[in-house]
Amino acid sequence: MSKQQVQVHNEYFDRAEERGANVVSFECSGCGFNVRTLAPQTENTVWTSMLFCPSCDKPYFKHAEKHSLEVSDE
Ligand SMILES: [Zn+2]
Repeated sequence: MSKQQVQVHNEYFDRAEERGANVVSFECSGCGFNVRTLAPQTENTVWTSMLFCPSCDKPYFKHAEKHSLEVSDE
């Protein structure tokens, strides 16, 4: 559990939302934290990447499209 990572995460995504980025979120199955991440702004675009819960460091693989977000922890 890192308070600083959570703070950096929240400030980053607060700013991203202010800029109008497509910010989506899911609940971490490890700790319940509301993890935010970026999704594409355009249709027919897929962004995949690894991400980590800033609260408990649980790794996820993300598959984000404009209107959907899937995360897998396997
Ligand atoms: Zn977590």
